[in-house]
Amino acid sequence: MRQPMVAGNWKMNGSREANEALVKEVLGALTSPAKAEIVVCPPYVYLPQVAALVDGSAIGLGAQDVSDQDAGAYTGEVSGSMLRDVGCAYVIVGHSERRSLYAEDDDFTARKFAAARRHGLKPILCVGELLEERESGVTEQVVARQLDAVLDLEGVESLKDAVIAYEPVWAIGTGKTATPEQAQAVHAFIRSRVAERDAGVADGVRILYGGSVKADNAAELFSQPDIDGGLIGGASLKAADFLAICRAA
Ligand code: PGA
Repeated sequence: MRQPMVAGNWKMNGSREANEALVKEVLGALTSPAKAEIVVCPPYVYLPQVAALVDGSAIGLGAQDVSDQDAGAYTGEVSGSMLRDVGCAYVIVGHSERRSLYAEDDDFTARKFAAARRHGLKPILCVGELLEERESGVTEQVVARQLDAVLDLEGVESLKDAVIAYEPVWAIGTGKTATPEQAQAVHAFIRSRVAERDAGVADGVRILYGGSVKADNAAELFSQPDIDGGLIGGASLKAADFLAICRAA
């Protein structure tokens, strides 16, 4: 049985004041333990603040990115060991905004995935197709290519301590959610692709859906057999919405 997971990707949002209010409101309302594992991923600079706020609670901490390097002369980079040092358990790798806005390709993403694992962080590997890729019928090829880059470098066993997030790029921040059937089809494809290498790993790996998940569509998405929770952007910034999504998982 896979434990559902809901991860909030705050992206480049927040302030000390807003973070404290958000986390306190979520924690205050989480009276009974949620079935889902809950993680929040604030911007780097707020990780120590949020680590202190969630310390000892049911909420775990993740970062939004990690350097592919371990230490040294890499101005502006943040290493996996630093993320561990400030209390992160997870890190998002290969988010579509990194891939498209910062030209991070499959190989670079795979090296970040490897760096996360070297430092004991669990990567949340994002994959997903652009609108034109979906429309030209190559969704599965794109997702397979993104996944294979990581599996070829790190091996299928690496997914035992990782999470996959399927995020169709056309659904991110657009208000256009994939239908539960569209999402389920790609999730099933991803699981079958992993199963070609190792059926046991495929059965155990959690595959989250991301892309305009909201309080009112989460339950239906999460009820699909291969959807094990969500990676939530915009709706993770409002306590009531994030809580409703956590409860739907
Ligand atoms: P969204 O973002 O929920 O705002 O669409 C999801 C994501 O990019 O992880």
